[in-house]
Amino acid sequence: MKVIHVSVECFPVAKVGGLADVVGALPRYQRKFGISSEVVCPYYITPFTKEHDFEVIFEGAFRQGGDQIPFTVLKEKSDVLGFPINLVHIPNILDREKVYCYPDEAEQWIAFQLAFLTWLRSLAKYPEVVHCHDHHVGLIPFLMKWTSEFRSLALIKSVITVHNTQSQGCLNWDKSALLPEFERWKSGLLDWDGVINPLASAIKCCDAFTTVSPGYFSELQQRANGLESLFRLESLKGFGILNGIDEHYWNPSSDPLIFKNYSRSSVTSGKKANKKSLCEKESLYTMPHLLAYIGRFVEEKGADLLPEIIEELFASPSNNLCVYILGSGNEVIEDRLEVLLAKYPKRLAVFFGYDEGLAHEVYAAADLLLMPSKVEPCGLNQLYAMKYGAIPVVRGTGGLWDTVTDVDRSIDGSGFVFRDSQPSDAVNAIRRALNTIGNADKVKTLRNRGMSLDFSWDKPANEYIDLYRQITN
Ligand code: ADP
Repeated sequence: MKVIHVSVECFPVAKVGGLADVVGALPRYQRKFGISSEVVCPYYITPFTKEHDFEVIFEGAFRQGGDQIPFTVLKEKSDVLGFPINLVHIPNILDREKVYCYPDEAEQWIAFQLAFLTWLRSLAKYPEVVHCHDHHVGLIPFLMKWTSEFRSLALIKSVITVHNTQSQGCLNWDKSALLPEFERWKSGLLDWDGVINPLASAIKCCDAFTTVSPGYFSELQQRANGLESLFRLESLKGFGILNGIDEHYWNPSSDPLIFKNYSRSSVTSGKKANKKSLCEKESLYTMPHLLAYIGRFVEEKGADLLPEIIEELFASPSNNLCVYILGSGNEVIEDRLEVLLAKYPKRLAVFFGYDEGLAHEVYAAADLLLMPSKVEPCGLNQLYAMKYGAIPVVRGTGGLWDTVTDVDRSIDGSGFVFRDSQPSDAVNAIRRALNTIGNADKVKTLRNRGMSLDFSWDKPANEYIDLYRQITN
């Protein structure tokens, strides 16, 4: 069986968040189980595209509005990712340095989808399944099924994985001029609340949809930024499949990006060495416990709670806790953290920005990883944390419910869970965690437990394969 994943992020081609990690790993694990899985993603100007060689496998053009737009499809030559990676190169439209935040985003993603389908239509053998990821490619199921331009693709099955519903890619109806012709009575398959909603359209037109955790699947039926009734209506073709982690890349015993490698048997000394290295680099006290946060500074992640949480934790004069924050985003949050940095120079360090290598160092160094998320479709950070022996302190929501059990509520608990997205709730959970990790035996047991949990892609890769089989039979 052949499956093509379509996404606007894929690690290491271009990464903004967890979407890239999923698309950059899942196909390799699917191939391990006999599925011919590959990826199509836009050609950006990133270190990956600069450092690798590509061959042109297709040259063509598609119609967008009144224009004929030329494009090429480039394939990476050395199979460096362990699966074919095909990049759609559309000059002046996709070949940019960033993935998101351009004012012509609608044109950008429509162009990508039309180019992809034009290339797909040219293949001698079609894949059995096109697997779309998130709203940026959410028009594909509709375009394949209901436009005369791509009618030849109508029998290919489509799956959409919902990584997040915060952003749905809504477009005003005047943008329908950019789409190929379709019978007007099909408009309802694109529309939600008077606009073209690519995510809603994908859910309506796909053969199956998945969410990135079972917890998120249930949650979306109650809370989905306006799409809850659609998720309820279509729930029979929906499945919650928990994300996995790429254990080749995220593995403390072989990770080249951390100061000292370690395994379960050497976790105590290994984490101590990594913590010392990071704290010295940042001029933090080195002996205390280290609490970390990694992620976008957005309300969804609970990043707006960080300043208050830190103030409350640091209110006590004891200096046995330091905090390391890696992320960027909302300027108000950044400014408030700047103020705290000046106030607590040896207890708080913040790296404002995105740094993949530093994220590995932080997982390896941290004793505790905080995720005060208001919404968390799956969350990968807590999985990486556990793999690196850092104990997660999380708000119970979405995928965090599915992956972290509270130490004080279960004998095989793996972390600390709090219920409300309030600073005081987070602080109570952190204090519970600090009490526990103050005991050397308890912390060792907890780290070992987290490190031995199986979050590999093997199981979810097979769940996706079962789903493909169900919809193609
Ligand atoms: P998201 O909702 O942002 O996709 P996930 O938990 O699914 O959240 O995935 C986040 C991914 O992005 C993880 O691989 C995490 O390590 C990484 N990440 C987030 N922020 C940063 C940052 N500032 N620097 C490096 N890596 C980051």
